Amino acid sequence: MSGQLKGEKVYRGIAVSAGVCRGKVLVLRLTRHVVVRHDLTEDLVAPEARRFEHALARTRQQITEVQRRVSATMSSSEADIFDAHLLMLEDRVLIEEVLKIIREQKVNAEFAFHTASERYVTVLENVEDEYLRERAADLRDLSSRVLDNLLEVKDAFNIRSVREPCILVGHDLSPSTTAQLDRKFVLGFATDIGGKTSHTAILAQSLDIPAVVGLKSLSDEIASGDYALLDGYTGTVIINPTDQTLFTYGQLAKVRASLEEKLVEVQHQPAVTLDGKAIHLSANIEAQDDVPAVLEHGAEGVGLFRTEFLYINRESLPSEEDQYKVYREVAAALQPNPVIIRTLDLGGDKFVSHLQLAQEMNPFLGWRAIRFCLAQPELFRAQLRAILRASAEGNIKMMYPMISGLDELNQANALVEQCKAELRAEKIPFDENLDIGVMVEIPSAALIANALAKKVKFFSIGSNDLIQYTLAVDRGNEKVAHLYEPTHPAILRLIKLTVDAAHANGIWAGVCGQIGGDPVLAPLLIGLGVDELSAAPGVLDEMKYIIRRIKFSEAQALAEAALQSDSPSEIYARCTEYARQTAPSLFENRS
Ligand code: PEP
Ligand code: MG
Repeated sequence: MSGQLKGEKVYRGIAVSAGVCRGKVLVLRLTRHVVVRHDLTEDLVAPEARRFEHALARTRQQITEVQRRVSATMSSSEADIFDAHLLMLEDRVLIEEVLKIIREQKVNAEFAFHTASERYVTVLENVEDEYLRERAADLRDLSSRVLDNLLEVKDAFNIRSVREPCILVGHDLSPSTTAQLDRKFVLGFATDIGGKTSHTAILAQSLDIPAVVGLKSLSDEIASGDYALLDGYTGTVIINPTDQTLFTYGQLAKVRASLEEKLVEVQHQPAVTLDGKAIHLSANIEAQDDVPAVLEHGAEGVGLFRTEFLYINRESLPSEEDQYKVYREVAAALQPNPVIIRTLDLGGDKFVSHLQLAQEMNPFLGWRAIRFCLAQPELFRAQLRAILRASAEGNIKMMYPMISGLDELNQANALVEQCKAELRAEKIPFDENLDIGVMVEIPSAALIANALAKKVKFFSIGSNDLIQYTLAVDRGNEKVAHLYEPTHPAILRLIKLTVDAAHANGIWAGVCGQIGGDPVLAPLLIGLGVDELSAAPGVLDEMKYIIRRIKFSEAQALAEAALQSDSPSEIYARCTEYARQTAPSLFENRS
């Protein structure tokens, strides 16, 4: 909407990446539609006209919904804008013209609509009357909404065009768009939808950009140019903050600065509990550019290298050579610490446009990760060969994502053996003893952990997916975010099963999902016996701070009590109490 809100307004969503920022808002409007003309056969003309009417109805519904939500705070000029949009949407002259183009020219609805609405916009833009000229902008705004609905566009903004510091606000941001954000210009971002462990949220953490998701209709209610304060600790966005609010945040910033000093002190200290239990604390990365942050925060290597971001946002697949260079350089920079490379995990919410994969009804349950790789052996082999070659030059380990049973593990290992045989024949060096592990992120894998443990060198628990699949809660859907409970007894039991199976078979188990970077949950995971925690570099200082303040014996008692409880909220409350008791400074800057 093109009207600005008056006075302070507070929006609450889901905090996904820590930090506070303030600045001018840039609302991502999906205006860059690629409208292509398609000729229709006679039998498709009537359904196409109906599709157009449906898109209009859907647009009407969306505008009315926004109008309803913001009516309490709307000035009359803002209300006029909604009304004007609704009126334009009802305009039979425009509608009939579009229907006529569809029927007479036998073309698709978006082409017909775009042609007609652009003609109107051009006329309006060229009239003398200022009021009418302004209506051209409204019509463009409206057309954009209709085209969004016709084209089912989710995320078409060219993010690289952002060249001034701003807080980005949009309905949604895809992981591939988020990966392109330039932190010099993007102070923070806020979206209407999304969940705590979506890949968009994970990338925000890696990029160290404060972010809040799940803000419902924020992007519709504010305008570019509005002034906002975004609090990524509490999941709050405040539009037009008052002086009092800015003062409060100024005070909180001072508290945060004094905590930062304490955190810097532990950065290069070992991650050891007060009673001497050492925890391997490593970093999650998505790109080679993340390596300096890994070093800065004193991580003991990389516990999860999400390699799919090497495949996203480029014109073609990366070659074996391209990948080999990246893996080798990351490993060299972190020597002698290990770098665990996770093989390609495409699918779910991460797609590569140039692969042209068909849309699926349930992408998270579909052709994702190891399933996709085993079906594309040539693509997979290029990555496996790259990892093997790099293993000759650094401390590299490899793990497969989304293993659901032994067969997939065996098939993947068979491909590795083939690649090894080829490399031997080609006299190309690699580490014959490369450690291979699996991610435990599907409940079936946790339940057969004992069998899997006999075939691998380590487990890395992918809690983001393990929670999603165990509780049947979409990790990226804010509507069910309240059901996404890391302390659900079912999750704790699966973690315990996995860790115990690992230890019984003489291997180690880590956690590399988002809970592995949550200081509140760190004592619980350590008490459950987890050997390694891996998280975004930016949260490692807090993790180390709390690890160095707890006792392993107390963490074990906490875990035992948690395993006796049937209540996720009770377990979470106990964890919070223990964390606040042992490391109060970590919680002082939360407003
Ligand atoms: C996980 O599922 O916890 C995990 C670490 O993998 P990803 O978030 O990339 O799915
Ligand atoms: Mg996963």
